Amino acid sequence: MKGPWHKGNLHLHTNRSDGRLALASVAEKYAAAGYDFIAITDHWKSYCTNGEQQPLMILNGVELDGHDTLGCYFHVLALGLARPLPENGLLLDAMAEARDQGALLIWAHPHWTGNQAAEALPHDFDGLEIYNHSSQCEIGKGYATSHWDTVLENRPDFLGIAVDDAHFQPRSGFWDGGWVSVCAPACSRAAILDALRRRHFYASQGPRIDRLVVKDNWLGIDTTPIRCARLVGPRHRGKWIHHAHDFRRAEFQMPTDWSFVRLEIEDACGKQAWTNPLGSMKTD
Ligand SMILES: [Zn+2]
Ligand SMILES: [Zn+2]
Repeated sequence: MKGPWHKGNLHLHTNRSDGRLALASVAEKYAAAGYDFIAITDHWKSYCTNGEQQPLMILNGVELDGHDTLGCYFHVLALGLARPLPENGLLLDAMAEARDQGALLIWAHPHWTGNQAAEALPHDFDGLEIYNHSSQCEIGKGYATSHWDTVLENRPDFLGIAVDDAHFQPRSGFWDGGWVSVCAPACSRAAILDALRRRHFYASQGPRIDRLVVKDNWLGIDTTPIRCARLVGPRHRGKWIHHAHDFRRAEFQMPTDWSFVRLEIEDACGKQAWTNPLGSMKTD
């Protein structure tokens, strides 16, 4: 994957639910910060329009919450809705309708909610938030790479995204701390959703990946300056490159006997970026 890359935030609230700002102000902030697209995901209030999207592309979306039949409580993003979902319905009914509409279903902030990894397995989530910036800034529970690795042992195609979950409230004004960068031919709704489904994106808190090549069990990346690159696999499996100085290119021989392989990188400030599982991915 060499680009073009499109920077987006997939979990945002407006004053239609518990956010402080109107949609236009949220869109202006993200456009001014260099984002190419956002998704609006208010609680149980679907953002669903086919109208003009300014000043940046906006995906239809909603954030659902509720219990499953085992009593487990979840927050779930539905991205790419074709029609609004009923407000304040039952979680599983709303997820089924979103799925029928072709929406992506993302398990939101598992650590913040208190979910165990196994709780997700009965559900057909497409992926999860591996980093939620507001959950991390507020109570230190924004990371879910541990949940991700556990699910990947059963679902090696499970997507991992980073998000802001921004509300712009006086005591919760955290934003521009976690995002996705999507490799797609255009920044249209169809192209971005298709690239998300194909795992043609990475999640980041800062580092940028300019090129990612997987070929004949060889992996190469070009990035902004980093200090560490790690291949992460099941259980104790891993490979790493660490230096005390910045570097911008890393190569690995891909293991062929791991049930999944993903790559994460880290810069001198400790900010990370994460690719999706690479095992079956072929890119040029
Ligand atoms: Zn939530
Ligand atoms: Zn939220």
